[in-house]
Amino acid sequence: MRKGEIIKVSGPLVVAKGMTGSKMYDVVRVSEERLVGEIIELSGDTASIQVYENTSGIGPGEPVYMTDHPLFVELGPGLIESIFDGIQRPLDIIRDQTGDNISRGIEIPALERDIKWHFKPLVKKGDVVKPGDIIGEVKETVLVIHKIMMPHHTEGKVKTIKQGEFLVTDTICEVETKNGVVSLTMLQRWPVRQPRPYKERLAPTVLLPTGQRIIDTFFPIAKGGTACCPGPFGSGKTVIQHQLAKWAEAEIIVYIGCGERGNEMTDVLMEFPKLKDPLSGESLMKRTVLIANTSNMPVAAREASVYTGITIAEYFRDMGYSVAVMADSTSRWAEAMREISGRLEEMPGEEGYPAYLSAKVSAFYERAGRVKAMGEPKRQGALSVIGAVSPPGGDLSDPVVQATLRVVKVFWSLEDKLAYQRHFPAISWLNSYSLYVDDVSEEINKKVGKDFTDLSKEAMRLLEQEAELQEIVRLIGVDALSPEDKLILEGARSLREDFLHQNAFHEVDTYASLKKQYMMLSACLFNYNKARNALARGAVFSDIIKMEVREKIARMRYLPETEIDKIDKIKDEIVKGFDRLIKGGKIQEKKEEAEQDKKEKVEEAAGEENEKKNTKGTKESREEK
Ligand code: ADP
Repeated sequence: MRKGEIIKVSGPLVVAKGMTGSKMYDVVRVSEERLVGEIIELSGDTASIQVYENTSGIGPGEPVYMTDHPLFVELGPGLIESIFDGIQRPLDIIRDQTGDNISRGIEIPALERDIKWHFKPLVKKGDVVKPGDIIGEVKETVLVIHKIMMPHHTEGKVKTIKQGEFLVTDTICEVETKNGVVSLTMLQRWPVRQPRPYKERLAPTVLLPTGQRIIDTFFPIAKGGTACCPGPFGSGKTVIQHQLAKWAEAEIIVYIGCGERGNEMTDVLMEFPKLKDPLSGESLMKRTVLIANTSNMPVAAREASVYTGITIAEYFRDMGYSVAVMADSTSRWAEAMREISGRLEEMPGEEGYPAYLSAKVSAFYERAGRVKAMGEPKRQGALSVIGAVSPPGGDLSDPVVQATLRVVKVFWSLEDKLAYQRHFPAISWLNSYSLYVDDVSEEINKKVGKDFTDLSKEAMRLLEQEAELQEIVRLIGVDALSPEDKLILEGARSLREDFLHQNAFHEVDTYASLKKQYMMLSACLFNYNKARNALARGAVFSDIIKMEVREKIARMRYLPETEIDKIDKIKDEIVKGFDRLIKGGKIQEKKEEAEQDKKEKVEEAAGEENEKKNTKGTKESREEK
C-alpha cells in the first residue's frame, strides 16, 4: 500500500507529505493505528486529512496509507435496524466487541457478513438488465422489502440467477456484459459525496401528510421536499422529529443524530428503538436506519455522518420508497466544518464559519427530491429532508439558520415563548411558512374537502387579527374592545387551543388524519362565524362564551379516527345553541322592551299627576292670596 508521512497533527486535522497520486476525498488510514481519514485539501504532494477518530498520541513521522478510493457506504440488506456511526461502522456490534469506548482504527464491515437473507429473483435467465433494474428482492424486516437493483455502470444479459438463502457477499446473479461476465452480490458500494443518479426529477406536488395539524393545515411539506425547524433548547425539536418519524407517510426513516452532548445522543439511541410504528405496532426500527455520532467521536465524523445518511436514503428512494431523512442537529455539523476550516487556516466568514458553509448546506438539502428512479419496473421515489437547527439562544440570524433558510422550502419556527406556555407543538403560526402550500392544496382539497384551503386561510387571518388586537389590549386593556373584537380573540383562542395545540404524548391526539383536521378546523370556524352572526343579531358576548358546546369543541381532538363523524353533530349543536341564544336574546329583548314601556308609562303617569298637583297647588295658593 502506498504511503505518505505525517508532518503535522492539529486535533482532527492531519497534514501529510509524500501523498502523490492521491485525490481529493480519498480515504486514507492514518498511522499504524489505521485511523480513518479523508483528504480534504491537496497541494502538491501535501494532503490535509480530516480524521474521523481521535488523533491523540499520533505525531509527525508516522505513516499515512492511501486507499485510492473515496469514502463510500455499503448498501444492501441489513441496513434497516442498524445503528451506524458517522462512517457507517455498526455501533451496536462494535459495542458488543469492544465495550463503550470504541477502540481506534477498528475495522468492522457495515453490513453483517454472516446473516443469510432469502433472495427472491424477479428476472430470469436471458433477460436484458440495465442499471437500476430490480433483479430480485429480500424481505429485510416485517415492514421493508429490500429491492436488489442492478448496480450503475453494469448492463447485459442475465446468465444465471439464483434463489434461496445467501450472504450479502454471495453471488446471486451473473450478467454477461460487453466486458465479460460480471458476478453480482446483494452488496453494493456508493461514494457518499456523490448524489445517486435518477431518471427524472419530478415537481414536489404530492403532500407528505404528517398527522400534525399545524404542519399539514398551515405549513405542509411535500414528498421530496425540504424543511427545517430551528428552535432553542427545549422548544420541541426532538419531539417533532420523533412525531414525523412515526406519523409522516414515509416508508423508510433515516435519522442522523449529531448531538452536542453525549447524553443527547444516548437518548436517541435509547429512545428511538422504543418508538412504535403506529400502523403496524412493530418497533419503528423495523423501517429505520440510525446514524449516530457518539460523544467520544471527534467532531469531524459529524461531517461524514450527514453524507452517509443521505446516501443511504437515496438508495431506498431508488427502490421506489418515500424516505424521510431527519438531521438533528445540522448546527453541530456546521460547527464541525467551522472547526476544520479554522485548523486549515481558511479565511473565516460570518461567526467564524467557512465561506462555503452555505454551499455545503445547499448541496445537502438539494439531494432531497421526488424522482423517477432509474431502471425497470418504473417507479417513483421521494426523499424528504427535515433538518433541525439549534442556533445559540434560538437566534434566527445565526449563519447556519440563514444558510438553511435560503435553501429549504418550509420553515417551522419553534418558539420558546410558546413552549413556556406549554403550547405544543411550539411552532409559531405567525413566523413559519411553507412554499408548498399552492403546490399541494389542490390535492388536499380533492382528498378531504374543496374548501380546505379557504378554511386554512380564514383561520390564519383570524390568528393574525388576534395578534394585532393583542397589541391594542396591551396598551388599553381588553375591556376597551368592542364585542366584535372580543369575539375575534375568542375565535383565535379556540383555534389555538382546540386545533393547533396537539399533544404528542396523548394516544389519540398525537395523530390527526387530514379528514379529521379538516372537520375540526371547519367546526372551529363554523362556531366562530355563528357567534359573529348571533352577536350581530343581538346575542350578548358573555352568553356566547358560556355556551355548553364549547366544551365539546375542545374535546374534538380526543375523538378517535373512527368517530370523527361526531364532529358534524357538534356543528348541529352549535346551530341549536345559537338559535336558543338568539331567541333567548329576543325574549329578553322583548321583556326588556315591555318593562321599559311600562316604566315609561308609569313615569308619564307620574308626571301628569305631578303636573295636576302643581297646577292645583298654584291655584290653591293663589286662592289663599
Ligand atoms: P429540544 O429538542 O428542542 O431541546 P424537546 O423536543 O426535547 O426539545 O422537547 C422538550 C419538551 O417539550 C419535551 O420533553 C416535552 O415535554 C415537551 N414537548 C415538546 N413537544 C411536545 C408536544 N408536541 N406535545 C407535548 N409535549 C411536547
